[in-house]
Amino acid sequence: MNDFSDDVQSESSDTKHVPLILIADDDPSLRLLIKHVMYQCDFQVIEADNGLQALELAAHHKPDLIIMDAVMPEMDGFQATQKILELEGCCETPVLMATSLDDDHSVERAFLVGASDYVTKPFNWSVLKHRIKRILSAVEVERKIRHIAYHDSLTGLPNRILFTDRIAQAINRVQREGGFFALLYIDIDHFKVVNDSIGHAAGDNLLNIVATRLKELLRKSDTISRLGGDEFAVIIEGIEQVEKITTVARNILDVLQQPVQVSNKNVNVGASIGVAMYPQDGTNFGSLLKNADTAMYRAKDCGRNTFRFYAQEMSEKAMRRLDIENQLISALERDEFTLFYQPKIDLSTQKISGAEVLVRWNQPQQGLVAPCVFIPVAEETDLIIKLDQWVLKQACEQLKCWQNKGLSLDNISINISSRHLKEGGLLEYCQRIIAEAEIAPEFIEVELTESALVDNSEKARTILSQLKQLGIRIALDDFGTGYASMSYLKEFPFDTVKIDRSFISGVPHDEEDSAIIRAMIQLAQALRLNMVAEGVEVQQQLEYLVSCECQYAQGFFWSKPVPADEFEKMLKANS
Ligand code: C2E
Ligand code: CA
Ligand code: CA
Repeated sequence: MNDFSDDVQSESSDTKHVPLILIADDDPSLRLLIKHVMYQCDFQVIEADNGLQALELAAHHKPDLIIMDAVMPEMDGFQATQKILELEGCCETPVLMATSLDDDHSVERAFLVGASDYVTKPFNWSVLKHRIKRILSAVEVERKIRHIAYHDSLTGLPNRILFTDRIAQAINRVQREGGFFALLYIDIDHFKVVNDSIGHAAGDNLLNIVATRLKELLRKSDTISRLGGDEFAVIIEGIEQVEKITTVARNILDVLQQPVQVSNKNVNVGASIGVAMYPQDGTNFGSLLKNADTAMYRAKDCGRNTFRFYAQEMSEKAMRRLDIENQLISALERDEFTLFYQPKIDLSTQKISGAEVLVRWNQPQQGLVAPCVFIPVAEETDLIIKLDQWVLKQACEQLKCWQNKGLSLDNISINISSRHLKEGGLLEYCQRIIAEAEIAPEFIEVELTESALVDNSEKARTILSQLKQLGIRIALDDFGTGYASMSYLKEFPFDTVKIDRSFISGVPHDEEDSAIIRAMIQLAQALRLNMVAEGVEVQQQLEYLVSCECQYAQGFFWSKPVPADEFEKMLKANS
């Protein structure tokens, strides 16, 4: 089956379509004559003087018909026809092969490469005109029939037959290129109530509005279909993360929840959506649809206006994530975040020299939530920007408070998401917040991971240099886990490197880890960078680090991250 994606548009446009004819012939005077005749028929014309040019023009303009000379330089008409018919969106283009070679062999060849008909030179102009008109009208009739056969007459959307074909194409693509796609089965809630109480015309109107909203919301590459009654289905392809399907489903629910005006009445409908994924949830149209349908009924059971994945664990994951996202949005306003401080120890004195600031979410129902649960969600929205700004502000105020009490710290470290380097604004808000808190910039160290640098290294370099000029310290966090590129250490203006916990946990029994740590510490010394070892839990680890002349460390061996008042007690005992 072929691709009929443009049918809906061409059907629905009111202005009369003027056929575009491509004339491919190397004889300029003959082209001129043909053009003249085509103008008489009110057709538009484009011209090519060889097969290659014809191919390019066809790809670009998608003509309604091609008059193709058989013998041309560069590429002959047979070859050009064959190549044109292989082009995307051109496979149906009628080609009229013009040949002076009135021999059986050429005629046979013309049909073999896919030409629709042939005319012989010299042209009988009247015959040519009629033949073209006849071909065009046959194509048009065929297109109409096909449209009726493959589209829903009410909404103009692809019907079940075409949808089945699109699923087959999507399956082929995934088998060829990998990845996955999602089939969303959408059922309009309360449709029957509208249909029965306001009437069938209102019901039809409602279905059209639903179709329009779906078309406006989704990408052109997504197939939307009305399978029958109040059931719609959508294929979502080309998505890298499953989570994005959640977003699409939610957006669909959002647009379908908007009140609908039918027969001068505002009605509220809404929808339930079931999602089946290929290849996990089914290997063909039938099994995918059945499982999406099952998931849709589960969604309905959960109180409508919601969606469910067929794979239960995926549903639960999606729901939990959605929950987190919804609650996170207002958590800042409700003042639900709180800061913990983990001491950073100077190994030469065994005293606290600084602190890493780590955020916690004090969720009313669940209590303290760890950052690994909500930071990734916050990073997908703008929330991370506001959250990190809030963290910096709170931490600066806290530090100022300790300084006023005479409790000294060399610096405090703040984790900064890589999103800040992409969005910009980091420099300005650091400057503002530090100034407002009346803190000298050298008391603040920002911690960034390698991933922040990899994606936008040029921009990152600029921003980091500007931060450095302000006097703010910069640390490379989780060193060794990502690209562990030594070149970053030289290229960016770091003051500190933090060796990731995963290396420390191997010490001292893992010889390789131990050797890597020693090498990293030597490298940091050579580059005059401070070195902090993260995640020290036991005495032997501490001893090994001291033997390597590591300067700083943090970890449960001394203390877990603690609230500000507890950290204050530790500070007092420290001095
Ligand atoms: P990170 O920057 O690598 O932070 C160190 C993590 O290691 C902290 O986890 C800390 O509690 C934990 N840790 C410290 N010592 C030990 C130890 O001896 N053993 C073990 N097993 N763990 C130790 P936490 O607080 O759960 O934070 C996790 C991550 O969340 C952080 O990793 C950081 O990437 C991110 N994060 C925390 N606060 C913020 C923030 O305010 N903004 C941003 N953007 N990210 C943050
Ligand atoms: Ca950190
Ligand atoms: Ca770290």
